[in-house]
This record gives sequence, C-alpha cells and structure tokens, in this order.
Amino acid sequence: MAQSTMEASVEKFVYDFEEGNRDLKDLLGGKGANLAEMTNLGLPVPPGFTITTDACREFLKTGRPPEGMDPQVGEHLAALEAKMGRRLGDQHDPLLVSVRSGAKFSMPGMMETVLNVGLTDRSVDGLAAQAGGDERFAWDSYRRLIQMFGKTVCDVPGEEFEHALDDAKRAAKTKDDLGLDAAALKALVRTYKELFREHTGRDFPQDPREQLDLAVSAVFRSWNADRAVLYRRQERIPTDLGTAVNVVAMVFGNLGADSGTGVAFTRDPATGEPGVYGDYLANAQGEDVVAGIRNTIPLQELAGKDQKSYDELLKIMAKLEEHYRDLCDIEFTIERGKLWMLQTRVGKRTAAAAFVIATQLVDEGVIDLDEALRRVNGAQLAQLMFPTFDLSQEPEQLTRGVGASPGAAVGKAVFDAKHAVAMAKEGEQVILVRRETNPDDLPGMIAAQGILTSRGGKTSHAAVVARGMGKTCVCGADDLDVNLHKGQFTVDGHVVSEGDVISVDGTTGRVYLGEVPVQPSPVVQYFEGTLDAEADPLVSAVHRILTHADGGRRLRVRTNADTGEDAARARRFGAQGIGLCRTEHMFLGERRSLVERLILARTAEDRDAALEELLPLQRADFVELFREMRDLPVTVRLIDPPLHEFLPPLEDLAVKVAVAEERGQDPGHDKDLLDAVRRMHEENPMLGLRGVRLGLVIPGLFAMQVRAIVEAAAQVDGAHPEIMVPLVGAVQELETIRAEAEKIIGEHDVDVKIGTMIEVPRAALTAGDIAQAADFFSFGTNDLTQMGWGFSRDDVEGAFFWRYLELGIFGVSPFESIDRDGVGRLVRIAVDEGRAARPELHFGVCGEHGGDPESVHFFHEVGLDYVSCSPFRVPVARLEAGRAAVAEQSTSDTR
Ligand code: ADP
Ligand code: MG
Ligand code: MG
Repeated sequence: MAQSTMEASVEKFVYDFEEGNRDLKDLLGGKGANLAEMTNLGLPVPPGFTITTDACREFLKTGRPPEGMDPQVGEHLAALEAKMGRRLGDQHDPLLVSVRSGAKFSMPGMMETVLNVGLTDRSVDGLAAQAGGDERFAWDSYRRLIQMFGKTVCDVPGEEFEHALDDAKRAAKTKDDLGLDAAALKALVRTYKELFREHTGRDFPQDPREQLDLAVSAVFRSWNADRAVLYRRQERIPTDLGTAVNVVAMVFGNLGADSGTGVAFTRDPATGEPGVYGDYLANAQGEDVVAGIRNTIPLQELAGKDQKSYDELLKIMAKLEEHYRDLCDIEFTIERGKLWMLQTRVGKRTAAAAFVIATQLVDEGVIDLDEALRRVNGAQLAQLMFPTFDLSQEPEQLTRGVGASPGAAVGKAVFDAKHAVAMAKEGEQVILVRRETNPDDLPGMIAAQGILTSRGGKTSHAAVVARGMGKTCVCGADDLDVNLHKGQFTVDGHVVSEGDVISVDGTTGRVYLGEVPVQPSPVVQYFEGTLDAEADPLVSAVHRILTHADGGRRLRVRTNADTGEDAARARRFGAQGIGLCRTEHMFLGERRSLVERLILARTAEDRDAALEELLPLQRADFVELFREMRDLPVTVRLIDPPLHEFLPPLEDLAVKVAVAEERGQDPGHDKDLLDAVRRMHEENPMLGLRGVRLGLVIPGLFAMQVRAIVEAAAQVDGAHPEIMVPLVGAVQELETIRAEAEKIIGEHDVDVKIGTMIEVPRAALTAGDIAQAADFFSFGTNDLTQMGWGFSRDDVEGAFFWRYLELGIFGVSPFESIDRDGVGRLVRIAVDEGRAARPELHFGVCGEHGGDPESVHFFHEVGLDYVSCSPFRVPVARLEAGRAAVAEQSTSDTR
C-alpha cells in the first residue's frame, strides 16, 4: 500500500486496490470498486490503483487535474513499481500498465482504455527480453499502444491505423494479425508513428510518465464523448457522475499459445441457467475477444488446453457468485498458464433471465423474495409481454445465430447506422445488419427494431448493448456474408439487399426471410389464463414475484377501459377496477350522427330528442362495464373533448358543399355541418370549450350521462360507479355539476361517488376548496403536464423535444415520466391540501404516467391510493407498486 505523505487537508484522489471495496462505486467507479473487492478476496488481480471520480469531475470543470492529484499518482505509481520490482517503461525490464475507464454504472465500450502504456522505442527491446526474446510479442504490444493511444488520446482517426494494418496483412499474405512476424510489426510501428506525427504534429511520446498522464486525461475526457453522452441518455444515467481511472499492471494474453484472454458469465445471461458461459481467444490481448477480430472458442474448450487455469477459473466464478449473491460477468487473461482476473461486475442480463435468476437464488436460499423483487423491474416485465413469432406457416429460415437479446423484430435490412436512423425517421421499421457493431453504431441500434451481426458471441458489443436497451439482437450468425459496400448479405444462396424485409428472433437466434407473424408471449398467455403458472420456468418466476409484489404494495392498480372486452382483459391482468372510462369513445361509429344532431339542434326539443336517443346506448355500455367489473369501482369520466372533434374536418365539408353548389344542388345537411364547424372553430381547442365547460354550457348533456350511469348501476348487482368531472379549475364548477347529478342520483337507490380530475394547475393550487365538493381526485397528468409546462403535446414532441433532450433540459419526455419537480409538485400540493381539507378523500391517477415505472414510484411516495393505466400496463404497475413499497422498506431499515 502506498505510504501517503499528503497533508490531511488535501483530498485523497488515488486509492490502491487494497484500499477500496465494492461499496465505493460512487468514488472508484464500478470497475475500480470491484477490482478492489476481488483483490481483497485474495483473487489473482494484477496490482494497481484507482483515480477517483472526484478527480474526474474537477478535471472536467477546469480542464486540469486537481491540485494534489499528480503527486498522489506519483506515490502510488512508485509503490506499484516497488511491488512489481519493475519501473514504468524501464529500458531493460519495463513495467507496463493499462489505463482504464470505469464509471459508477457500467457503460460497456463507451469510454476509453489504453493498454501497454510505458512502451517506447527503448523499452520495447526490454519487453522482448523479458518475454524470453519474443520480439514479435513486444512489437505487437507496441503497435497496439500507438494505435490505442493515437486514437483515444490524440484523436488520430482510427481507420488510418486499421488501413495500415490491413495493408501490412495483405503484404504478408495473411488474413490474421497472427500472421505478421516481428519484422512486419516493426515496419508497422514505423508507419503508425508517421501517422501519429502527421495527425498530431508531434512525435509519439517517449516519456512513460507523460504517456500515463496523457492517457489519464483522455480517459477523463471520454466521459463526455458523444457516444457516452448518448448512451447515458438512453440508459438514464446522470450526466455529472464522471468516470474513475484504473491504472493496472499489464498481464499478457498475447504471449503465445499458452496465453489468451476471455470473458465469461457465471450463468447464462439469456436464460439464467447455471453453467459455464463464455468465450476464449488464445494468443490475444484485451478487446480482441469482444471485437470479433478472430473467432473465439467456447469457454468449455479451454479445459482441453489448460486444465489448471480452467479449474481455477471455475472455482473463482463460483466464489464470485457466492460473494455477490448474483450473476457475475468477468474478464480474465491467461499469461503463460497463469490466470489473472481483470474485471467483474454483477452481470447484465435479459429480462427473462432477471426473473428466473432471482427466483433461482430464492430457491437456493441466497436471497429472499423482497430482494428478488428488487432485482427485477417493470421495464423488464413489459419486455416479456412482447409477442413472439408464430412459426405455424413455416417461414423460410435464412440462418441461425446466437440469440443475444430476446424479442421478435421485423423490418427492412439496413447495413449502415446512418441509413437506419434516416429510415426510422421516415417511419420505417429497420433491422441493422453489421459484421459486428462498435460504439459508433449506437444511434443506428437505437433507431432499429432489431440488430443482426455475423460475428461475436453473447458478450460482443452488439449483444451487450442490445440487452441493455431491451432491443432484439441476434449475433454471430457466421454464415452470413455481409457486404457493407454493396448493402447486402448473402447466405445459403439467398441475397438480401438493403430494404428487403427480414424477421429476427432474439430468443432463438433464428433469422427468417420476409415478415413472420407474431403471437402473444407466454407471460401474456399466463395472464390471460390460457397457460398454467407452472407451465414454464419463466412464467412461474413471474407469477411468484408478482404475487409477492401484490402482497406488499400499498397502491391499488386500476385500468383505463371503455369497452367490456378491455375491462375483462384488464381484470384478468389483475386490475382492481376502472380508473378511467372515456365516455367520448362511446360516441363514435354510427352514434356520431346522434352527436351531430345534438350539435345542430336549433331548439331545446331537438336537443332533448337527440339526448333521449343517446341515453339507452350509453346505459347499455355502462351495464356491460359494470358487469365485467362487478364488485370493483368504475370511474366514468363525463364527456371531455371539444364537440367539434365529432364533426367531419372543415376541408372535407367545404369541398362537398362547394361541389354541390357548383352542380346547382342543395348541399343541405353538409352546409349545416359546415356552418357549425366554422362557428365552433377554436384557436386552442385544448384550452377551449371542453370538459366541465361543456356540461355547464350544453343543457342536459351531462345529465343524460349521469342518468345513464345511475340507471345502469341500478340494474347491475355489485356496481360501484364513480362519476368524474373533467377539467375543473374552480370549486364552483364542480358544485354546479354535483348539484345537478345529485338530483338524478336521489331518484334511485344507488351509491355513486362524485369526484373530479385534477388536471388544470389552478385545480391543484385550490385543491383544499375543490375537496369540499369531491369524493375523490384523479390526477390527469397528461393535461397537467401540458398546462404545467405550457406544452401543446401534439406539437412539441415532434417539433423540439429532441433539442430539449439533447440539451439535457430533461432526461426523458415529461409526458413519458412525470416531472417530479414541477408537475409532481402540483400533485403533491393537491394531495396535501386536499387531504387536509377532507381526510377521507381518495386519490388516484389516470393517464399514461400511471403505467410508467418511474412515475409509479413517485405516486407511491406522494401517497396516492391507486394508479390507473392501460390493460397491458397493469402487471407492470403492480410490480412497480410492489417494488416501491419494498424500496421504502429498505430505506427505513437503514435509517
Ligand atoms: P471496458 O470497460 O471497455 O471493458 P477495460 O478497461 O475492461 O474496458 O479494458 C479493455 C480490455 O483490455 C479488456 O478486455 C481488459 O480485459 C483488457 N485489459 C485491461 N487492463 C489490462 C491489463 N492490465 N492487462 C491485460 N489486459 C487488460
Ligand atoms: Mg472491460
Ligand atoms: Mg385531460
């Protein structure tokens, strides 16, 4: 351990691996914290130290390393040199190090790492001598350093090095970098150094410490690389965390056939099955194994090559899984028969594996069900509800690769990330097809329905990133011959060109020609009751965890439904009532003409006659809903949208009328409609005559709806109707409607609650008053967001939200996840003041936020009684409501 001579007042920016542990991820990043943890477990980790995220944040602020950092790096480096018995870049016996990024949250391949730091024109000979005179190895290591250093530290375009490497291989008549001998590599180093000088205006640095310092700064800066920024936005990782830097003594997997490098999982990350899963590549360094440069072998085959290392690796994997109580992934290198651990972390996994592993660990007695619930989430459950391919028509299978991230994706093949983005913008569904992906493909991967690669395994870049995003991915389909220049791939005599439709199954790894129809997932079949909970391990895992969530949650979950069919499905999915029935949906189809009559009515009699005809239709709708939701509450919202939405568009009518007049015919009804549309035109219909305002202006409209509700309730045993008035901003509005409704309710022997939506900011701010006239509040967070921000939803998302997201004004659209600070504050005020004024008041939320995982946690925290969401979101909301309760539990435990 480094003897620190710092004064107490200077912050500690550097930690030896012996000084850290896995709980220090904020400070040391995930990689550094886990390297420290493994070191302290006594596992074979090459020695090294970690520079903190604090130092990175300071650096990014000022552009310089913070005061005190450099001397501390010096001390820790000296200690490392002493431990290794070698000096960094020494001419005769050099110590080399890697300089590796590592943030709190894993961002695979998004930031930079430089290997072999310390190699110079002089120490390269020392390295060869160290390796028993292996010149090829030494020069291969040197060219890798110049390449990585040039690209990441000095922004030399990476392709330039790639091209030079290709040229060298061509000259040596070899396809493989192993075919380059020492002389060829020496020449390549010369070319690389020229490229370096050409692009940077200086020679490749020959001072090892300067190399180290420049590499550290470059890793700091890589936190803000475009692709890292994009990845964080996609994964909702905060932008201000910074990365730590790990300086690790190099070990070499490129020292010949008894050396190599690999990656592994302690269980199958796709299914959760225990076993040995990984890839190994002999005589290779670092990224070679994930970059798909050469074909890897399955980890099991290492047993035949190096039984001792293999056995040790399995023992370590078991130890790690026991220690972390979870699936781990690891990176390792074997240097001449000696195993070294280079990285571990709790591994990313598919949604299915998350559920299966969590319940397996419960059965193994490693964790309890609360912990299992913490380890899954609503986004994963939503993904498991995606449909799968229906293969009954026996579609033509093109090939089979590795099912790396599940799902059924159909789209047009594209071979370039930019094309993928452009086509997706046009509304096309695309499948990104590549040999392998790299971080520059990220925008294309986001835009695509699915990803198909011809190289790499479950641990390749494509696989890891796709799994993280929940995107369908098949990789390593190695009989695909992908020709990026021609924009096509060939397989088994088929040519698939850009624009041809293919179907990709990320669960089985199968790829089909054309569009394959999709069918419901087993999890949905289980919810529907057509599949038994014990039918398969995944369904049973979902069943157990969801049942546990139901037992612990405080929030009830209702659904938004306007038809008996939706209500019935939602009930099967676990809905505990209807939180929002949109009655305007009942005015569509042939009933539209009745609404037209209502709008065109010239006299009270005409109007009443139209309402009279609507009444039995509405009543029948409600009877059906109440029956499906017997014994559960059904909240019916009185008509909300502006009435002109029920009339034909102005242009259509204007044309019809003009044509009729042209022909000398009487436009009749169309002319009346046209006049009505013109009369009712509004500049801002969302802020116009709608909601409660309609009820106050059009006599008899709300009364008809209330009557239909009450009469239906009187007919159905176990009906629990709740009448909800939309768009209220002042208590007087609600009082007027309430008085009218109570008269009708009083004529029947039914119990009907009357409440209001809280969706106008004024309603939230005067909730104490409004509570006096309400039995319940239901937050309409779509309108509340729209009016709280002053965003016209239909306009803004396409017009400028991309820019707001880019600038980080918000990390995710406030229509997707509730804006806790602003709109959420309105919700809080309304809950607090409403409850203070009327303790028995009930609170819920309807609108899309009710099914959004993040938002559900917020609604739990502010103390709502229920959320309401679309039928397919009901299981997601149940799970998240349970997780919110468990999360609250664990914070109060530690307090
Ligand atoms: P990433 O975060 O992208 O995985 P890493 O920092 O893990 O980047 O490093 C990239 C590759 O280099 C990995 O394969 C890793 O195992 C290898 N590597 C890193 N440090 C060393 C080292 N000291 N000796 C040998 N290989 C190393
Ligand atoms: Mg790594
Ligand atoms: Mg609304």
